[in-house]
Amino acid sequence: MIRENLEFVENNIKKACEKSGRSRDEVTLIAVSKTKPVSDIREAMACGITVFGENKVQEIREKTEIIKEPLSWHMIGHLQANKVKYLPGVACMIHSVDNKKLADEIEKQCAKHDIKMDVLIEVNMAKEDTKFGLSPEEVTDFVREISTLPHLNIRGLMTIAPYTENAESNRVYFKGLRELKDSINSLNIPGVNMDTLSMGMTGDYEVAIEEGATFVRVGTGIFGERDYSKKA
Ligand SMILES: *Cc1c(COP(=O)(O)O)cnc(C)c1O
Repeated sequence: MIRENLEFVENNIKKACEKSGRSRDEVTLIAVSKTKPVSDIREAMACGITVFGENKVQEIREKTEIIKEPLSWHMIGHLQANKVKYLPGVACMIHSVDNKKLADEIEKQCAKHDIKMDVLIEVNMAKEDTKFGLSPEEVTDFVREISTLPHLNIRGLMTIAPYTENAESNRVYFKGLRELKDSINSLNIPGVNMDTLSMGMTGDYEVAIEEGATFVRVGTGIFGERDYSKKA
């Protein structure tokens, strides 16, 4: 099933790239494996997937204890500062930076390990009460504020668009995120030159690609529905 799903998703990604005049290699598929067992991850690996997304620190730690192959693990979920210490050397990118305390903790922990962490700023484009992330108006000042932290590499912006049956209705948010990135880049803030847009999930990744996504985060479309009633 995972192989067929991946072929389907890959085909859609190719079509969205063609439609928007983009090259397929501008877009990276992140396979979101949260709640899914290691056997599912191994199945995706057998199909050539090397980039995985998880939303809980504990789950990334458990899975990377078992799976020792060189993969890229992305922390895509809300992150508490007290868990950051587990991520250097485990996650290659954090998609959910939305407050100074968290940024300062990433700085501190990465300084200890003498590494630079790729980070994205999470933006709540639709201003939903239920979601984390900065409102679009707050992002520029926040980027300025954390741009001086030497162990953070601000690679770009991330958004989780509203849940919808109609992907087109999220186009405005994806377009908005791209424009926000371009506008911040045009300010030439020292050390800030963002090249990454993490946007689009199972329901709307094609539209996100048409609007410039460089990472799409697809879970259900690859691994099937998640079951939260039992432990992965
Ligand atoms: C779960 C999750 C996804 C994947 O969602 P699907 O709709 O299953 O593709 C993407 N991004 C984040 C931040 C998530 O938590």
